[in-house]
Amino acid sequence: MTTSPIDANAIRTLRTPEDLAGAGLISTSELISFAMIAERYATAIPPAVFKLIQNVINPDVITRQFVPSTNELQTTPEELNDPIGDHNHSPVKGVVHRYLDRALLMPTLVCPVYCRFCFRREMVGPEGGALTSKQLDEAFNYIRKTPEIWEVILTGGDPLILSNRRLMKILTALDDIEHVKIIRIHTRVPIVTPLSIKADLISALKGISKPVYVSIHCNHAAELTPDVARACALFVDAGIPLLSQTVLLKDINDSVETLETLMRTLVTLRVKPYYLHQLDFAPGTSHFRVPLDKGQNLVKNLRSRLSGLALPTYMLDIPGGAGKVPLTPNHSHNNSKGFISIEGPDGHLYPYRPPANPS
Ligand SMILES: *Cc1c(COP(=O)(O)O)cnc(C)c1O
Ligand code: SF4
Repeated sequence: MTTSPIDANAIRTLRTPEDLAGAGLISTSELISFAMIAERYATAIPPAVFKLIQNVINPDVITRQFVPSTNELQTTPEELNDPIGDHNHSPVKGVVHRYLDRALLMPTLVCPVYCRFCFRREMVGPEGGALTSKQLDEAFNYIRKTPEIWEVILTGGDPLILSNRRLMKILTALDDIEHVKIIRIHTRVPIVTPLSIKADLISALKGISKPVYVSIHCNHAAELTPDVARACALFVDAGIPLLSQTVLLKDINDSVETLETLMRTLVTLRVKPYYLHQLDFAPGTSHFRVPLDKGQNLVKNLRSRLSGLALPTYMLDIPGGAGKVPLTPNHSHNNSKGFISIEGPDGHLYPYRPPANPS
């Protein structure tokens, strides 16, 4: 594909099946199926992502994440509209409180892109779910009267899509709640619209007295362009630590080489890989799913290749709402005569005598 500097598709966000067909991302013969998908799930391809698709050597790893596919019309029996049971743990609108010490706050359900595998795909969208000031006040009241909440995680939707003024109103309110010690922001903005990260946002974040951590969602090293590197540096140079979350996705990042390159690149950008997520059972996502044993094998191979600094924890969110658990590969095997066998990084088994329980 060639890029022309006056290409209209490169200067606005593509949202409708017609936009996608016009940009050559889907074929016009399939417009009817795509109209059915568009009725159910939002699409957004911002200019930076379109540009990336045009310039990257392997555009599939980007298009599959953001361009709708007719596979989405197939729902398998285990797929659920609320795959990780958020609804049952929502005490007030916009808050999910499942773990004692931390709560999610979702001020908006708008995102800069709509990932085709999103676990909240039934909820997110451009019309979506901005909390009114009254609902925000109710959310703050809930957090204020729940002293166990040590950390508030802003998510959505994407909190960094809010205007600085609205974002600061929220952050300042949280900053004023004594028992909230940590604020975390989950976002894809620095990856998919990196030029929107500007000095005014960074200085606003620096004005918050509590530590603010930012976790970016990134699935392939091809997403980490020079503009993204610049956006990451703005945060880290300002003392705002960056973490990353990656979803394990079939034919996008389910090889040890792809994951290794992604994790190494993140660390060079001063981003600490945090979680590698097993894909949740959201509707119409089976074409992205990687079997658990394959995931565990990948993680085992990564462990033997990568610095601990570059290793994310492989996590499963138990369907229905029980919570997240690590799927760490098992390195200890059968017990005999007081010994267990531990599999070393070289794949060999080594006998280990576990320390006796003190009596
Ligand atoms: C994932 C999640 C969190 C954050 O979990 P960490 O393991 O601390 O990253 C918090 N609350 C809910 C409801 C979650 O789903
Ligand atoms: S940016 Fe996050 S919340 Fe938005 S669609 Fe992607 S995965 Fe879902």
